[in-house]
Amino acid sequence: MRVALYGWNQHEIGPARLEKVRLWNSMTSPTYNERTLDLFHHNPETRVIVASVAFGLGMNIRIITDSINLGIPDTVEALVQQNGRAGRDLEMDAHGWTYIESAVVLSVQEDLDEGAVVGFEDGVLPKKKKARSKGRSRRVVEAKMKRFIAAHLQGRCIVAELNVILGNPGVDARLSCEAAGRRLPCSSCQPFWNNPAPAPMPQGYVVPVTPPSASSRTPRPLTKKQRAHAHAHFTYFAEKRTLVKDTARSRYAPTAEFWAGTELDLILDNMHLLNVKEGLNAMLSKWQYLADDGNMLHLLINGLNAQYDALIYKRRPPKLDG
Ligand SMILES: [Zn+2]
Repeated sequence: MRVALYGWNQHEIGPARLEKVRLWNSMTSPTYNERTLDLFHHNPETRVIVASVAFGLGMNIRIITDSINLGIPDTVEALVQQNGRAGRDLEMDAHGWTYIESAVVLSVQEDLDEGAVVGFEDGVLPKKKKARSKGRSRRVVEAKMKRFIAAHLQGRCIVAELNVILGNPGVDARLSCEAAGRRLPCSSCQPFWNNPAPAPMPQGYVVPVTPPSASSRTPRPLTKKQRAHAHAHFTYFAEKRTLVKDTARSRYAPTAEFWAGTELDLILDNMHLLNVKEGLNAMLSKWQYLADDGNMLHLLINGLNAQYDALIYKRRPPKLDG
């Protein structure tokens, strides 16, 4: 529920946000669930279903691209099954993500530090370890799961490890993702995903940006300095965009041609409210370049707003806890 609340807070206040993030658990009614599936299939805005394990049992939903586990399940088999909710459509790239509780990571890491062979023995802890942990609760981790997490911590291919653990056949099963030529490498084989030892990010990789939550982001007009900064960007944007248009006017006065009317002032006055593309479209409906350049302009506005927001939040960190 807290995850769903967090999700709802990422969107503008209003009933629409209840359609963008859906719930699926023992409390949701069959009618609500049916509506969820319908939205998920037909409404491009519905991107997230916050679900308990009940979701997906006996269903074949092909359009799931990401399965995110909050915490590890009890067994490796369950983990594989949960991630298997994504990627039923083999044409589509799909990812399985797992957030592992720090107590679990710590428990496995301590075993590794002690040189314990993390194998198939069960995760019951000897007494002396308990004493050493000084009352901090160490979670007992199932043996195979422990082995899987150890591979992650040691940066070994987790797909190969999983194949060994589950006894999956195939000549490539035990090879690393690179050697086996897996199209989407695991987090160990593409180590910049991997937290204990992040590698430099490959060129061209775009970091997904989480927008500041709609409720915590208090929109505020640009300061004088920000306005000048944004103005410079829009001027440069005009020059770049008119270069490709090559009309007589755009050649000698690119900015004046591009920002011919009141559009630029409108944008600068309302920048802080323009994070949604529809808002920009509505405001600039009469602008002659909206169809050609509206998308790029929207990206630029979002980028600038994110910069300005980041400055605000550096001073006043947002409260993220739902
Ligand atoms: Zn791998």
